[in-house]
Amino acid sequence: MKAEHYVGGVFRSDGPAFPLIAPVDGTELGAVPEATREVVDDAVAAARAALKGPWGAMAAEERAAALRRVADGVQARFEEFVDAEVADTGRPRAFAETVDVPRAVGNFRAYADLLYGRPERAYTTRVRGWSSGTGEALNYTVRRPLGVVAVVSPWNLPLLLSTWKIAPALACGNAVVAKPSEETPSTATLLARVMDDAGLPPGAFNLVHGHGPGAAGEFLTGHPGVDAIAFTGESATGAAIMRNAADHVTPVSFELGGKNPALVFADADLDAAVDGTVRSCFTHSGQICLCTERVYVERPVFEEFVARLGERARALDGYGPMISAGHRDKVLSYLRLAREEGATVVAGGGTPEFGDARDGGFHVQPTVLTGLPETARAVREEIFGPVCHVAPFDTEDEALALANDSPYGLAATVWTRDLSRAHRVAPRVETGIVWVNCWNLRDLRTPFGGVKASGIGREGGEYSLDFFSEPVNVCVQI
Ligand code: NAD
Repeated sequence: MKAEHYVGGVFRSDGPAFPLIAPVDGTELGAVPEATREVVDDAVAAARAALKGPWGAMAAEERAAALRRVADGVQARFEEFVDAEVADTGRPRAFAETVDVPRAVGNFRAYADLLYGRPERAYTTRVRGWSSGTGEALNYTVRRPLGVVAVVSPWNLPLLLSTWKIAPALACGNAVVAKPSEETPSTATLLARVMDDAGLPPGAFNLVHGHGPGAAGEFLTGHPGVDAIAFTGESATGAAIMRNAADHVTPVSFELGGKNPALVFADADLDAAVDGTVRSCFTHSGQICLCTERVYVERPVFEEFVARLGERARALDGYGPMISAGHRDKVLSYLRLAREEGATVVAGGGTPEFGDARDGGFHVQPTVLTGLPETARAVREEIFGPVCHVAPFDTEDEALALANDSPYGLAATVWTRDLSRAHRVAPRVETGIVWVNCWNLRDLRTPFGGVKASGIGREGGEYSLDFFSEPVNVCVQI
């Protein structure tokens, strides 16, 4: 898969190239063009031109039809998308087949469907001499696109997370300039091919590749021609983008990092809680923003829970690698730090040996730690790998205090069979999402996002359409 920019309906690969490395075995997959400031300028200009051209003139129904053609196009090239996502991320094939690619198709279908349920004009009030005005007036609200939207996305769920923004942005009539992570450019390039085949007018969707700081990401998010930024990635990157966007007061939607807690009460179905926690800690080797890194277990079941979680972690097989050598080294540095801070390593704690080509890749063992104080860096900071720390608690209030004592607030999981407790605890956990007796069970219409350092705004269903369009009041005196 050759990574290419897609600007104004034209594929191009200008800019210096950098190598794309396969995380599963460290081999070189190909070269990626690094978008210069000129390429980014061209992409923003092409997007702006599209808003003034056929794309801007399209009715909502036509845009919905275009999104359905994109969904069909991704579906038609399903295997190619799976191959590309597996090569770039090293994730198990089954994960790409059941999560990444179907969700990308689902994202385009969901927003095409939603457009029909949402009138672009909503008649709201009829006012007679109220407040400052005199006479009678009819007010209605028009939903207008924001304009040119920059979509900057991470490497952990490349296609799923970028289309989660691109689909609603296009649905609302915006033109998009997307910049995928430099680690995972391939499915975005394929998506541009699908957009092209689906006949989207030139400039409606544009793609630029490259790095973040001092490069394509920064050029794009600081660009005066960009009207809104939808970003998923680290909290520190969000802060940098916000500073960059401040000059032009560009609105942002941010999905950022997390240090997600799980609360396991002694009355929980322990089999389900262990199963669920294995999934929530170790799916995609912990490289999902929703993964659990802090597990708090009520004391009567603490020992048993830790033993069972450790046993399951040691038995895991076929987990994928860290995305890069740099990220592997970061995760390993947290494991070293945890040992220095006094952790007991219940399971994992290092790099596995496979005795095959995978030894050239960037794997870390699924790791369970105990015994750290809550002040330890490994308990406070996002590791974003297959690592969790398990600590005991004695009361519901203590569990909540521990869960909430974090700069982050993305997602939490509560395991209990006590219905009252579930409803009492869930709203008091300071996160944007609380799962009870499950993890990562998603309905695309529900609000998705974090509080505190985990984000700004909500995505999903109507919430995305709210961000990607602007309500305009029209007041007509009668
Ligand atoms: P990252 O912040 O390093 O990079 C994300 C994207 O931002 C990349 O495309 C990168 O090139 C770009 N970027 C980096 N610096 C930039 C800058 N200064 N200006 C503009 N663009 C810049 O994140 P990552 O390592 O790719 O992804 C992992 C992080 O993403 C974790 O913190 C994880 O929690 C978070 N994440 C959050 C969610 C969520 O929904 N809240 C979902 C997935 C991942």
